[in-house]
Amino acid sequence: MRYDVIVIGAGMVGTSIAWHLQKSNSQVLLLDKKQPGEETSYGNAGIITREAVNIKPFPRSFREFFRVLPNNSTDIRYRWSAIYHLKSPLLQYWMSSSPKKVKEIDKAWSALIQHCTNEHDPMIKASGADGLVRKIGWIELHRISNSYEYAIGKAKKAADQGVEYEVLSLAALKELEPNINFEDYVGGIHWKNSWQIKNPSNLVKAYAENFEQMAGEIKQSTVNSVIQTEEGWQVTTDGETYLCQDLVIAAGPWSTSLIEPLGYKIPLFPMRGYHQHFKMTDKNEFSHSLFDANKGFVMGAMDQGIRITTGAEMAMSDDPKNFNQLESVLTYARNVLPLDVAVESEAWCGTRPCLPDMKPIIGPAYKHDNLWFAFGHAHQGMTLGPVTGRLIEEMINGKPLLIDAKPFSSERFASKI
Ligand SMILES: Cc1cc2nc3c(=O)[nH]c(=O)nc-3n(C[C@H](O)[C@H](O)[C@H](O)COP(=O)(O)OP(=O)(O)OC[C@H]3O[C@@H](n4cnc5c(N)ncnc54)[C@H](O)[C@@H]3O)c2cc1C
Repeated sequence: MRYDVIVIGAGMVGTSIAWHLQKSNSQVLLLDKKQPGEETSYGNAGIITREAVNIKPFPRSFREFFRVLPNNSTDIRYRWSAIYHLKSPLLQYWMSSSPKKVKEIDKAWSALIQHCTNEHDPMIKASGADGLVRKIGWIELHRISNSYEYAIGKAKKAADQGVEYEVLSLAALKELEPNINFEDYVGGIHWKNSWQIKNPSNLVKAYAENFEQMAGEIKQSTVNSVIQTEEGWQVTTDGETYLCQDLVIAAGPWSTSLIEPLGYKIPLFPMRGYHQHFKMTDKNEFSHSLFDANKGFVMGAMDQGIRITTGAEMAMSDDPKNFNQLESVLTYARNVLPLDVAVESEAWCGTRPCLPDMKPIIGPAYKHDNLWFAFGHAHQGMTLGPVTGRLIEEMINGKPLLIDAKPFSSERFASKI
């Protein structure tokens, strides 16, 4: 079978790309080893982070270093074996986190993220997915006055970039969320024009169904190889070979394994996260997702129940699960709201696909024609899928671009090989 475009990976990123291309009259095949939205795009905290106009640099202060070193903090854990294997991308991450570089990266990043809700909106409407997204913002909670004051200062600056927020006293928090125990906190910030997804996997599935309604094709099969021929690209799966003019790699944390045989060595690295659902009752019901900024975890009301999502664990993708971080998080979360009945017997675990300069790759491959990369969205792939989809469609069809996409080019990793 021959297609105009094949997209590999039906997470939020690949599905959004396929949607945009099919809408612009390309015949698209979306390939995934699973059903759409079953991997990283399943297990995240589900926030469309309009407020996140600044990237997350590597902590460079000694204080931070000594806080994280004992490996018992709730927001970040690590395994020495992973640090050893990932020493090169982590060093690049550290180098990209100098104040000068962060300023430069923030500029490109905020130009991209400011389109996140505007680009989700038409996809939500076209997919009839309004019921899956709550446009009520989310709340960042602080336990320590210093960190709270600092966050309020940052919020003031973010307002210049269209971020809407409200500083909430403990009384205001209690009024908004009466079931929550705020006694460990000094206050909160309500990020008002960010959105919450009630079921991240189902939002991807809704976009994928709408793609099919536009005559896009989805096949569930593992891609084993991609080869460039004189006629275009040849994609071989477990059972079939497919041909296309343009090929998009949007396989999240697995993207580099597909392109390494073509000679690309891109320093994509994993950052693991866990979640567990707890039954929601009259006693623990709440509506705004809550992020504990000092302990680094999110509590969100999802279709499946209350989802408690951890921060980052530096572990290799195939390392066995280690639930210690989640257990530590749960001791704090249980003081905020009752979490009596776990929905699943085992917690979910997934991997954020990260790049050392904290920006995704969105654009043409630097060595091959008609090959496009869209991966490395790290902490914000649910947020940035639709705007990534729009940019890749504009690039493939030679249209003017929504924003300057040069900072997201794969070329930035070419010289490091
Ligand atoms: C704990 C946690 C919390 C998070 N919270 C948020 C949040 O609140 N907001 C936000 O915006 N982001 C959040 N993220 C990040 C976000 O989930 C990811 O950035 C995003 O899901 C990545 O999407 P993706 O489409 O690139 O990858 P994925 O969703 O992983 O999709 C990649 C797809 O490629 C497929 N695939 C891989 N290899 C092959 C192959 N060989 N053949 C066929 N198919 C293949 C996989 O099956 C998969 O479906 C969070 C992540 C984690 C882990």
